[in-house]
Amino acid sequence: MKIIISEMMHPSGISRLQSIGEVELLPDLWKSKKELLQKMSEANALIVRNQTIVDEEVLKAGKNLRVIGRLGVGLDNIDLHAAKKFQVKVVSAKHANAVSVAEYVMAAILTASRSITQAGEDVIKGNWNRALFTGHEVYGKTLGLIGTGEIGHRLAKRAIAFGMTVIGYDPYVREEDFPFVETGIMKADFHEVLKQGDFISIHTPLTKDTKSLISWNEFHLMKKNAVVINTSRGGIIDEAALLKSVEAGHLSGAFLDVLEVEPIKLDNPLLNNHKITITPHIAGLTKESQERISAIISDEVVNVLQGKHSLSLVPL
Ligand code: NAD
Repeated sequence: MKIIISEMMHPSGISRLQSIGEVELLPDLWKSKKELLQKMSEANALIVRNQTIVDEEVLKAGKNLRVIGRLGVGLDNIDLHAAKKFQVKVVSAKHANAVSVAEYVMAAILTASRSITQAGEDVIKGNWNRALFTGHEVYGKTLGLIGTGEIGHRLAKRAIAFGMTVIGYDPYVREEDFPFVETGIMKADFHEVLKQGDFISIHTPLTKDTKSLISWNEFHLMKKNAVVINTSRGGIIDEAALLKSVEAGHLSGAFLDVLEVEPIKLDNPLLNNHKITITPHIAGLTKESQERISAIISDEVVNVLQGKHSLSLVPL
């Protein structure tokens, strides 16, 4: 068996893969389509994160390819129709980094409320500006969720523990379903979430319905002190409209972990606004989640290659 890994992977699962075949760990392979296509001709399994574009051409080149392992959750870089056409199975590590993303959002909410880093830097400069660093409590504030899936409901649990009210919009989750019945999220419509949220956090996949879901009109509906947090996918927020809205004072600021174009281009005007904090797609990236994901995907790729049942199969 030949297993190609085209992006970085935590070592915890590699010995499991090596137990059934030859493993090539090529963390930069995703950067060259030509080299990726060459490697595909020998691969029985391909393991990717979110940067390898697994399109029809790549799948076609994989004459012996049986499975793609996705080290994470989002599947927008894999052509699932083509995978079905070429009878290639796809396994993903659903839920495995959901806690990490939920904790990142809590960190963003707390960072927006208390200027601990800035206050510490100010003290080093010789100042003692107590009034300047008066913060806000998150207790009693409202968190609005767009999407109440695996990350959304884990975040809600944590926010409620801080005394926040959590409202959520999700057209595919019923009021009787787990997120609303068991976690304390109150079901709301889209505009209610936008209007009532002190913090608005987005947790949907990128689809034709969610592309530019939050644009100029939506920013207009938000509270002037609202903070938007996007850890889902770039493109769900209209970045130009966000910048214009923050500049016009329609909302207080934003935390963006995901962007339409990653890595960000240095001339992107979002970089010039200090009310917008951009991080390099790290919300799900913790030591714990990487170990977990590596172990799950290795086990599941091995299961598929050995013809066994996999608990992590993506429906095609
Ligand atoms: P999930 O599938 O468990 O939940 C997504 C939810 O969005 C579902 O409940 C679905 O019904 C809902 N949804 C779909 N269309 C919607 C719409 N138009 N309006 C409102 N809700 C809608 O997914 P998840 O595991 O919670 O992941 C959420 C997002 O986070 C995905 O885009 C995923 O790729 C991304 N993600 C990012 C990172 C990171 O490091 N930044 C890590 C993990 C996941």
